[in-house]
Amino acid sequence: MGSLLAGRVALVTGSTSGIGLAIALRHAQEGAKVMLNGFGRPEEIAKARATVGAAMGVAEAPYSAADMADPAQVRAMVEGCIADLGGCDILVDNAGVQHVSPVEDFPDAQWDRIIAINLSSNFHAIKAALPGMKAKGFGRIINVASAHGLVASPFKTAYVAAKHGVLGLTKSVALEVARTGVTCNAICPGFVRTPLAEAQVQPLAEKHGVSEERALTDFLLERQPTKKWVEVEEIAEAALFLCGPASGSINGTALSVDGGWVAQ
Ligand code: NAD
Repeated sequence: MGSLLAGRVALVTGSTSGIGLAIALRHAQEGAKVMLNGFGRPEEIAKARATVGAAMGVAEAPYSAADMADPAQVRAMVEGCIADLGGCDILVDNAGVQHVSPVEDFPDAQWDRIIAINLSSNFHAIKAALPGMKAKGFGRIINVASAHGLVASPFKTAYVAAKHGVLGLTKSVALEVARTGVTCNAICPGFVRTPLAEAQVQPLAEKHGVSEERALTDFLLERQPTKKWVEVEEIAEAALFLCGPASGSINGTALSVDGGWVAQ
């Protein structure tokens, strides 16, 4: 579609579905070489690789199966990207998981898993990618956080703590890289239309005895003032903007793409 990112290499974690896949595809459409990462059924991963590969003009996009819960695998993924694709100019830390439970019942293993994948993997990937970015005098680090990085909801302690942590990490790294040609920013989506999120509508309608339309606007999107889903393509455009030439002075910020959620 364009050549905004020609010559750049982008690594997008958690890019076999949802937001990460949309970001990877949009970056590939603008000329970046993109490495994918994430879990899924083999046919889903193959489809993601083929879709992003087509935008890159190759049969399949490069892919790492690294588990973001394992620091050694995170480091190896970044090192593999640098070795195989010639660098890691753009790092999009997007992989994320959720668990919902009252804090007193919250399983310890779920807490550890969410902190590892949603927060610590960002740290390990940034640590591994930054020396190469600094050496090149160019880098873009984008952490996909959440409206839950800025405000809380009940029963999501680990997720909210991790996403608030991501914003702290973003700001601290931004200050460290400020004079190096590298920027570090976060994107804070509201409720984004993904298959998993959409699957919550019908059970909510049944639970409250209302239409699916009302379940969406009155319950699922209760705090999203637009009463509309954020689309994955809107997040992808925001990420692309933060990677492009016009955004060099945007550093350490949290860009909300949430229909006004955190304005309340
Ligand atoms: P998704 O479930 O569609 O995608 C998550 C991706 O992360 C998948 O590719 C999955 O395979 C990958 N993943 C999960 N665990 C992994 C692991 N251990 N190692 C490697 N990859 C792993 O979800 P999504 O909605 O696209 O979410 C992407 C990001 O956006 C997450 O960080 C999420 O917290 C954030 N977010 C989503 C929403 C929303 O409404 N969907 C809102 C705000 C923020």
